[in-house]
Amino acid sequence: MQNFNLFKLIHPEKRAHPAYICSKIHNTMSEEKSLNFLEEIIENDIAAGTHGGRVHTRFPPEPNGYLHIGHATSICLNFGLAKKYNGKCNLRFDDTNPTTEETEYVESIKNDIRWLGFEWDNELYASDYFDKLYDFAVALIQKGLAYVDDSTAEEIAATKGSTIAPGSNSPYRSRSIEENLLLFEEMRNGKYKDGEKTLRAKIDMAHPNLLLRDPLMYRIKHEHHHRTGGKWCIYPMYDFAHGQSDSIEEITHSICTLEFIHHRPLYNWFIEQLGIFPSRQYEFARRNMTYTVMSKRKLLQLVNENHVSGWDDPRMPTVSGMRRRGYPAEAIRNFCDTIGIAKRENIVDVGLLEFCVREHLNKTTNRVMAVLDPVKLVITNYPEGQTELFDAENNPEDPNGGTRPIPFSRELWIEREDFLEEAPKKFFRLAPGNTVRLKSAYIVNCTGCIKDESGKITEVHATYLPESKSGNDTSGLTVKGTIHWVSIAHAATAEVRLYDRLFRVEDPSNEDGDFKEYINPDSKQILSSVFIEPELAKATPGSRVQFMRKGYFCVDTDSTSNKLVFNRTVTLKDAWAKEQRRG
Ligand code: ATP
Ligand code: MG
Repeated sequence: MQNFNLFKLIHPEKRAHPAYICSKIHNTMSEEKSLNFLEEIIENDIAAGTHGGRVHTRFPPEPNGYLHIGHATSICLNFGLAKKYNGKCNLRFDDTNPTTEETEYVESIKNDIRWLGFEWDNELYASDYFDKLYDFAVALIQKGLAYVDDSTAEEIAATKGSTIAPGSNSPYRSRSIEENLLLFEEMRNGKYKDGEKTLRAKIDMAHPNLLLRDPLMYRIKHEHHHRTGGKWCIYPMYDFAHGQSDSIEEITHSICTLEFIHHRPLYNWFIEQLGIFPSRQYEFARRNMTYTVMSKRKLLQLVNENHVSGWDDPRMPTVSGMRRRGYPAEAIRNFCDTIGIAKRENIVDVGLLEFCVREHLNKTTNRVMAVLDPVKLVITNYPEGQTELFDAENNPEDPNGGTRPIPFSRELWIEREDFLEEAPKKFFRLAPGNTVRLKSAYIVNCTGCIKDESGKITEVHATYLPESKSGNDTSGLTVKGTIHWVSIAHAATAEVRLYDRLFRVEDPSNEDGDFKEYINPDSKQILSSVFIEPELAKATPGSRVQFMRKGYFCVDTDSTSNKLVFNRTVTLKDAWAKEQRRG
């Protein structure tokens, strides 16, 4: 039951320090995984020969926004189960609401699923079933199990009752089957205005489950639909479409999030009354993550009100945002596998996702040098006009990673923070009298600096030891610090975008007031002239690197042939956790 233990760790009340959780993950990843509750159900079904031992799942997004990390867990789950049990997984767009749905979203969803590494067996649309659903509705009317109601939305709400009081019957509930058939057909033919009539299931206005108190099946909406165009002016409610869509596709295990648990009896009621394929629904807990919001409605607000640059802004918890930020699909899949599934709502520390991203990037990215906040270093005893090419190892984690040439010369860019005129004892970087190694090059001895009138340091000076050349060091010296650098004459310039949490608080949806009040005003910082190794200037959008000592970065799609733009994917260490510990 290692998944269960992990949830305890992740659950807010018990949330441990991310580093602790990470060490736990390391331990659990190497262990044999036990079955989660859905796998247990499926294996029992296979053993019992239910539906001939067939496993058929589906991922059913509503195309009203871009996919986020919560959807990614559902995708990994549905496609993952189908794969594990040699079954099938459909992609079904739940597009019964013409008001909010768009083709742009359909395309982005398909693109994101493929990028995550999954391929569906059938691409389907609930709107493909509009004719069938209409026939189902007619069949229920004919059985005396549905009626056309002239009540307004307010009247219907007022007669619903409550958890402690029964509802009351609509005055239109006893219409004859013939009248209902006629009225429903007229609704379809456009005789009535929006809201003038609805079709309701005739179940029980005193049912303990409020969802079964004569729920709506159809509403009138004179609206264009992204696929059926102007063909329909009545649309099925989600609750009248979802269960039957599963049934039409003969889905064996219909997996959804917990908020639908009370809808299950309604889906089953429709399926039983219609005598159609008995799909079964199973619920798991919705995934939430710290320092972000997950609902599409809220994400849409962030986009529409320009708090972010778009759905794929690298700070967004969307699949497209994470892709643009440089998160590898494999790391996201690992994250989803690691957190597994739960039956209780919980909030996962974003540090965990970042941990998975770092793990992957550590193994796969080349180490390169980039100076984000430059100051000039002059090697005063190095010949003017001379250039040497050093071979730098691309990735110490990858024996086949190869090397690349980096030019060295008398004048270099180094990080401003790597020099202190008056340094404390344990400062192992450049300070007058200190000795450090320039990565892949020479050991240098700092001799001082030059300042302008305002006191700002404009140049740092050092001398080098020719016999300390990296890979052929005969100096016999050991130094405590190594710093990165870029040759000024050879450097290319790039823009770097540094990202931080989009929100200042762990759970913005759970705070007082509007969630947008908790947006972190400093979540994006742009550095417009960062110096990078010349070799790196050839990198193309999507490529990922480690800027030594600075973090993992990837080339953004905003890059031009003149200037690359890098996004910081993640820092090298969990600096955020450190900060929190400091208080
Ligand atoms: P949102 O509130 O973000 O719009 P939704 O549930 O309305 O979410 P859908 O497009 O209906 O979004 O979801 C498609 C599938 O993804 C559903 O099966 C849903 O249960 C699942 N899903 C959505 N959000 C999450 C989440 N945070 N964690 C796990 N699964 C999710
Ligand atoms: Mg939904």
